[in-house]
Amino acid sequence: MAIKKVWLDETDDECISCGNCEAICPEVFEIPEKMVVKAGVDYSAFEAKIKDAIESCPTNVIKFE
Ligand code: SF4
Repeated sequence: MAIKKVWLDETDDECISCGNCEAICPEVFEIPEKMVVKAGVDYSAFEAKIKDAIESCPTNVIKFE
């Protein structure tokens, strides 16, 4: 299933601005302070890297659908 939406969910924990997600997939993630998901990106084109970034996030705050 193609990824349609990616977002930061701090319901249970916080982004600690570690840089992992941006290092793995700078096309989608940037960290001016806390992580921001770039808008207007075809997320399905970066599916593997988005999933790698999610696995590398130490606080599990990256969500997708
Ligand atoms: S990997 Fe997770 S904790 Fe690290 S900057 Fe990205 S969203 Fe924040």
